[in-house]
Amino acid sequence: MLEMKPACEHCGKQLRIDSADVFICSYECTYCATCTHEILQNQCPNCKGNLEKRPMRKIKEN
Ligand SMILES: [Zn+2]
Ligand SMILES: [Zn+2]
Repeated sequence: MLEMKPACEHCGKQLRIDSADVFICSYECTYCATCTHEILQNQCPNCKGNLEKRPMRKIKEN
């Protein structure tokens, strides 16, 4: 199962698992939308892979 990291690896911003504004690379490096678009330009700085939208996971309410 995909590991849902709780924060952007670039700026440390908290990321909700049900947020649509979260981007990951194929190695699951995780970034917020701002870093992805304005700083990283859709490329992961760790592995040079493309960053894509992370699938949203619904938060279960008990
Ligand atoms: Zn960020
Ligand atoms: Zn990466």
